[in-house]
Amino acid sequence: MANAGEEVYLSLRKKFKGDLLRRGDAGYEEARAIWNGMVSRHPALIARCADVGDVQTAIGSATEAGVLTAIRCGGHSLAGFGTCEGGLVIDLSRMRQVAVGPEARRARFAGGCLLGSVDVETQKAGLVFPAGVVSHTGASGLILGGGTGWLTRRFGLSCDKVEGFTLVTADSSIVRANAKENPDLFWALRGGGGNFGVVTEFEVRLHPLTAVVLAEGLTPENDIRPLLEFWRAFMPDAPHDLKWNIDLRLASHAEKVPAELRGKPVASSSLIWTGDPEAGQKYIGPALSHCSPASVRSSVLPFLKLQTMADSDFPHGRRYYTKSGYFKNLDDATIDRLLAAVSTIPSSDTQIEFAYLGGEAGQVGADETAFGDRGAPFIMNLLANWKEPSADAGNVAWVRGLFKQLRPAMTPGVYTNFMSGDEQDRVPEAYHERWDRMVAVKSHYDPDNFFRLNQNVRARSA
Ligand SMILES: Cc1cc2nc3c(=O)[nH]c(=O)nc-3n(C[C@H](O)[C@H](O)[C@H](O)COP(=O)(O)OP(=O)(O)OC[C@H]3O[C@@H](n4cnc5c(N)ncnc54)[C@H](O)[C@@H]3O)c2cc1C
Repeated sequence: MANAGEEVYLSLRKKFKGDLLRRGDAGYEEARAIWNGMVSRHPALIARCADVGDVQTAIGSATEAGVLTAIRCGGHSLAGFGTCEGGLVIDLSRMRQVAVGPEARRARFAGGCLLGSVDVETQKAGLVFPAGVVSHTGASGLILGGGTGWLTRRFGLSCDKVEGFTLVTADSSIVRANAKENPDLFWALRGGGGNFGVVTEFEVRLHPLTAVVLAEGLTPENDIRPLLEFWRAFMPDAPHDLKWNIDLRLASHAEKVPAELRGKPVASSSLIWTGDPEAGQKYIGPALSHCSPASVRSSVLPFLKLQTMADSDFPHGRRYYTKSGYFKNLDDATIDRLLAAVSTIPSSDTQIEFAYLGGEAGQVGADETAFGDRGAPFIMNLLANWKEPSADAGNVAWVRGLFKQLRPAMTPGVYTNFMSGDEQDRVPEAYHERWDRMVAVKSHYDPDNFFRLNQNVRARSA
């Protein structure tokens, strides 16, 4: 594979406008690192594209040499798909242009954008693109998988807001996908991940919003059961303006945390209200009544602050492992298992994350996008987060063990962006009744499975 990497380098070096980095080059070590410190690989070549022409050239040289190729936008793939050992990385981080049309409430942005690049530009016009909760996440990987965040219930998934994609396919051609041009590809790109080509531009719809109400509170261990019972009954009828996420974790030792809760199992509630702040109190008040009064805080927050407030909680280079799934109902036995698990959490930043989908995201039909059925509204993500390699085994085992216990109560399906790199067998589950259609689109656009470092849908012939 190293020779194939060298072959690609020799073929690119005269015509490539961006940067080419090989082992030993200045900047290579920094460039090869991705967000998840559990994944440390040495690609033979990192091709940091300057423009769409570079993407075409890189794909052409890579297919000719038959080299394993990873596509990287923000490098946040939990599974580590943004890099590879001995192959080529097509790195889009120089392609971060964003153009906003305030009147039309539309934006076009390039395939290397981080969420923060999009947020900053759209906010200049008082507009938002609903996406994820950490600004250093890549927009491409997030949108192509679906894209959930604080605004999902109010405005829908990120992929629901895309009106058109421009991509470079495995034969190096530029293809457009929208409701009129290549509609099957347009369907597949909204949830199908990086399976079909390198998206170089997204055209999306935006919504007006500049501030939200953020309310937070911690529930002590003994009160977590009534909190979860209240939450599961409350959310199905909650207004779309309300997002209420609950994380089960050990409380931090930060000054703002009441002394008696520090280091103890808690449920951490975060509520976002996107409507009129006064009107929101009717819903936020009852939710926060399940939290320890000393831990409760509420404020009106500028949108850009909301979008960056969790950035430092998920730093680059730490070690992460995840497993995820959906529940149609959060039954009592599941709550029992969660309560037993929270006191065995192996590291202080590891958490069991729960979000309730529904809202606008729930209004889109199961067959309208590859993301599929949104009818199991409870999304759970077991996210282990730790520093030392010596703690790898304990954290991974904890996630796997708990997942195994909870799995029988889950609804089949999984959000591909929350999957690890060892779950390829769950990809058909992610797309279940949409699987044949996914395979058909893949077989048409990438018959040799050139784009395979992703939650992979194999072409029929591959
Ligand atoms: C800190 C953190 C916070 C997160 N928060 C959220 C959240 O709030 N909501 C949510 O829904 N998800 C969230 N995620 C999950 C996130 O959606 C995925 O990890 C996603 O893959 C990250 O995209 P990326 O571009 O940074 O990843 P990369 O590692 O760069 O790429 C991931 C995958 O996308 C493909 N890809 C990347 N760019 C392109 C492109 N231009 N064209 C075609 N394929 C491409 C790659 O082939 C690869 O398979 C979060 C992840 C992290 C690490």
